[in-house]
Amino acid sequence: MSSLALFDLTGRLALVTGSSGGIGLAIAAGLADAGARVVLNGRDAARLEDAAALLRQAAPKGVERTILTSAFDVTDRLAVEDGVRRLEEASGPIRILVNNAGIQRRAPLDSFSAEDWSELMRTNLDSVFYVGTAVARHMIPRGEGKIINIGSVQCELARPGIAPYTASKGAVKNLTKGMCADWARHGLQINAIGPGYFETPLNRALVEDPDFNAWLKKRTPAGRWGKVEELQGAAVFLASDASSFVNGQTLYVDGGVLSVL
Ligand code: NDP
Repeated sequence: MSSLALFDLTGRLALVTGSSGGIGLAIAAGLADAGARVVLNGRDAARLEDAAALLRQAAPKGVERTILTSAFDVTDRLAVEDGVRRLEEASGPIRILVNNAGIQRRAPLDSFSAEDWSELMRTNLDSVFYVGTAVARHMIPRGEGKIINIGSVQCELARPGIAPYTASKGAVKNLTKGMCADWARHGLQINAIGPGYFETPLNRALVEDPDFNAWLKKRTPAGRWGKVEELQGAAVFLASDASSFVNGQTLYVDGGVLSVL
């Protein structure tokens, strides 16, 4: 096999949670360009159809993107089970899962509400368990499957005002290792991507904050925000045969944030 063919995802079904916009949509585009049949997910079916149309229209010249949609709330375990079952029946097998859906809530820990804590943990962490197990139960009997969990540089580092987010992402990193411990023997590969700072709706307040921009420029060795397209290479690598002996890892795509103090 040529080394380029190692990255070929032709015909493989990939479910990307939280892909109506931001990082999920960019990762979906990257997987589609490598040949995957990609399923967009989010809570709003109409928004997903718009996103799917956008991806098809914006395909690079000569590339036809196959984009499907499946609306469900990743914090609702029954809805997740139902969504995954329907997808398997209609378009399966799901060979690639990207657990990307996530939210941010900013407040000092001593004034963080229990409601926000719960919503954040359910969206960022419980969802990885719900969707991961729902999909893995189909992958395990088939003896193969790729799961990519989206962590963050906050898997490793805390910043003031986002302690619960940091806790959730640290847990995603360790859940990635736990999934590897349980499922690698069944032929599954479970890895994580840890993005640095990317301009998406999740970071809207920070993108518009001059002080944060000055801090980011100094703190990130690359000296700038990441572009969401810069996550596509890592996602295609971890979704493809090119990463066939990589398991339980977190790959940081952060412009050097974690390497330099
Ligand atoms: P966005 O806010 O841009 O997008 C979040 C996506 O998640 C949307 O598509 C939203 O869809 C979906 N979503 C939210 N809640 C649910 C839910 N309960 N069920 C289904 N879908 C849901 O965020 P980003 O693209 O910035 O973030 C994506 C991931 O990357 C997150 O896990 C985030 O923590 C992580 N990350 C982001 C970084 C950044 O700098 N932006 C850095 C490090 C990590 P809808 O609202 O339509 O349901």
